[in-house]
Amino acid sequence: MNVTESRQALVLGAGLAGAACCATLARRGWTVRLLDAASEAAQGASGLPVGMLSPHVTRSPTPLSRLCALGVADARGQLERLVPQGAGWQPTEVDNLGHDPGRKPAALVRPSALVHAWLAEAQGLGRLQTGWSAEVHRLERRDQRWWALDAEGGVVGDAPVVVVASAYGAHALLEGLFSADPTALPLRPVQGQLSLAALVGEPLALRPVRNNGVFVPSYEDRELPPRWPSRVWAMGSTYERGSQDVTVRSEAHERNAASLEQMHPVAAAHLRQCAARGELQGWAQVRCASLDRVPMVGAVPDQPALLEQMRSAGHRRGRIPLADAPRLPGLFMVSALGSRGLTLAHWCADWLAARMSGEPSTLPEDDLDLERAFDPARFAWKSARRQDA
Ligand SMILES: Cc1cc2nc3c(=O)[nH]c(=O)nc-3n(C[C@H](O)[C@H](O)[C@H](O)COP(=O)(O)OP(=O)(O)OC[C@H]3O[C@@H](n4cnc5c(N)ncnc54)[C@H](O)[C@@H]3O)c2cc1C
Repeated sequence: MNVTESRQALVLGAGLAGAACCATLARRGWTVRLLDAASEAAQGASGLPVGMLSPHVTRSPTPLSRLCALGVADARGQLERLVPQGAGWQPTEVDNLGHDPGRKPAALVRPSALVHAWLAEAQGLGRLQTGWSAEVHRLERRDQRWWALDAEGGVVGDAPVVVVASAYGAHALLEGLFSADPTALPLRPVQGQLSLAALVGEPLALRPVRNNGVFVPSYEDRELPPRWPSRVWAMGSTYERGSQDVTVRSEAHERNAASLEQMHPVAAAHLRQCAARGELQGWAQVRCASLDRVPMVGAVPDQPALLEQMRSAGHRRGRIPLADAPRLPGLFMVSALGSRGLTLAHWCADWLAARMSGEPSTLPEDDLDLERAFDPARFAWKSARRQDA
């Protein structure tokens, strides 16, 4: 039997990526067990108090900007269907000051609202079980199943199919499977800090702006967790490549102020005054990015088998298509959503769930080449070709 025929999966990670996987699989009749190291959902990067859903504008189209164009429309549809306005998101427009400047439609979103909505949808279909405080240290394959093991080697979960949606946590889980060439799994942590404060009185008469960071002059959310005021303004976010330290730092607030100064000097002065009065709050977490900044979505490659296949193909190795790279049975991933989790999580999860369920690709015909761009085997495939050249 094909491993996916049982329609039973273990999903690792309860952020935007994992929750979207739960919903998109459950809609297709899969039974899902979701495991996360945290005590509840959306405790990683998806705990962001407020983020921006907007097009990724580049001088000319790139795989990421094309993927984002598909993702923005899809994510907006999910918000409209599942999350009441004012309780997790609000529509807006953003002034883009970078490439292709202009005003774009956008939405301000608290990602945890989407996470909880997708988990509630999967639960409502009777197809989701959750396991919290369940940190997975290792994945092992035996008896046609994947076994998720804790630090002591105890079993935390098992299923014929696993979807690794644990952001940078995917690196530790998968690196053993890439031991023949660690460069074939180029996932990187990118820490970031958002600066925010209670909005008292009337908002500054400004629109959201994106340039080197995003300025949100006003966001209201009656279900923001009690740690945050229900009306905030925010400026984010910093980029610390390689860092996993989630301590909120005043230097990072100052970097946000410096970025804001280039867009709105008055707002930057306000940010600095709030910092001086001790009224500024911060939130820091870790994004996960790939080397080429495009997500890694799909079946995980069987790297030793791929190297062997390239070697035995000899001078014809350049003709082995990426799509034919051997894969580990029943092991999939959705990771490296970078700074675009709101835009990409649901689209990527839905594409993957369709493929896992034996359905045609959800990509429009003109965009089918994008499958190569986000294939998790792309780095292993390129590296195997180089090594054997
Ligand atoms: C400061 C900042 C600002 C941002 N602003 C925006 C924005 O404006 N717009 C936007 O679209 N995106 C933004 N992002 C990015 C967005 O937050 C991420 O792309 C998105 O949350 C990633 O979702 P995820 O599910 O992949 O990861 P996460 O939400 O990090 O979820 C991963 C989960 O996996 C779990 N996990 C990890 N390892 C293990 C393990 N071994 N076993 C079990 N569980 C494990 C973690 O506990 C976590 O719950 C921002 C991020 C940051 C840090």
